[in-house]
Amino acid sequence: MIRFDRVVKRFGDNVVLRDLSFSTEAGEFVTLIGPSGSGKTTILRLLMTLERVNGGMIEVGGEPLSHMKKNGKLVPADEKHLRKVRRRIGMVFQQFNLFPNMKVLQNITEAPMRVLGKSRDEAEDKARSLLEMVGLTDKVDAHPSQLSGGQQQRVAIARALAMEPDVLLLDEVTSALDPELVAGVLGVLREIASTTDITFLCVTHEMQFARDVSDRVMMFDSGRIIEDGHPEKLFTDPSHARTREFLQAVL
Ligand code: ATP
Repeated sequence: MIRFDRVVKRFGDNVVLRDLSFSTEAGEFVTLIGPSGSGKTTILRLLMTLERVNGGMIEVGGEPLSHMKKNGKLVPADEKHLRKVRRRIGMVFQQFNLFPNMKVLQNITEAPMRVLGKSRDEAEDKARSLLEMVGLTDKVDAHPSQLSGGQQQRVAIARALAMEPDVLLLDEVTSALDPELVAGVLGVLREIASTTDITFLCVTHEMQFARDVSDRVMMFDSGRIIEDGHPEKLFTDPSHARTREFLQAVL
């Protein structure tokens, strides 16, 4: 579903990703862990096309993201191509970034109507069923400022799902939340992961969540994957000393 092929990303002299290659299966829940600055967020930003690669290639659903085919040749992607591939990718950030002047329902229906061309009825039906999924049916008419952080994050998740993405990127979705609100948001994600065939790529410091929900965990260090495997194995019996050291520090 997602494929990185020898991807290089530099910021000035700082080589953040070095010949990074990995691929994920459709429907897989993959979590990226590793020390601060190891390049995890950069991977999500490349997928969101907020950054461009300096080398190598990224594909989503078999389509090149960083490049496009023109006259049988691969050339760097233009804006139109980026928009097309980006549509398949949803993202939920640490900050919920809801539209403050719109009610919850409109926050969710706006993009499906504008970008996917859905009718208002269709978009609202879908939004209501998503709000039920995230446990917020009673907040349809609320404004974001009337919601707790955990509720706002659940609306942000519903908003991302309303675009029917093939891939959902999660970047530290609970780190701006009060501790008592974390479980509700993670519970919603766990439910979505087990009932849809969306591919998840998740960056988190919530190791227990990563262990419970992931099909696969990739441990990063200095822009490389140093260990990649089933969460039970990686968390209980890591193969790499660096993984052991990292887990001892965070668990
Ligand atoms: P954290 O867990 O702290 O979020 P991370 O593993 O997600 O860390 P990244 O945010 O991907 O790490 O950053 C990797 C490296 O890239 C860091 O050295 C960071 O300083 C650098 N970096 C990221 N974005 C930029 C940017 N826009 N300009 C310059 N350097 C950047």
